[in-house]
Amino acid sequence: MTRPMRALTQHQLEVLRRIAMGQSRAQIGKALGLTNGGVSSINRQILLKLGATSSAHAVHLAHLAGILRRERHGDHAGFTAHVRRGEDPWACTQGCPDGERAYRAERRQQRKEAA
Ligand SMILES: [Zn+2]
Repeated sequence: MTRPMRALTQHQLEVLRRIAMGQSRAQIGKALGLTNGGVSSINRQILLKLGATSSAHAVHLAHLAGILRRERHGDHAGFTAHVRRGEDPWACTQGCPDGERAYRAERRQQRKEAA
């Protein structure tokens, strides 16, 4: 990196997090109450601040800089990762509660079959 990164606002960080999760512009706009143009505008600000040439590059640079943490969601491993971070796993909005319920149901079924 040739120049220091400028800090992202909470709003820009939320958009970048959603880009990293693979959400489309329309999905991000719907979730955050923005138009497609609004999402594009924020995306341009993110690229500029991080010195990135694309959204993929921005996600990569943000991971390297520790701005985005590698987090797993949506299954038992993601659920327990919340617990390790001291967070309430049931409060996750990225699928961990559903993933954990499915995991527990599967385990119950396995125990029943083993008995
Ligand atoms: Zn989660």
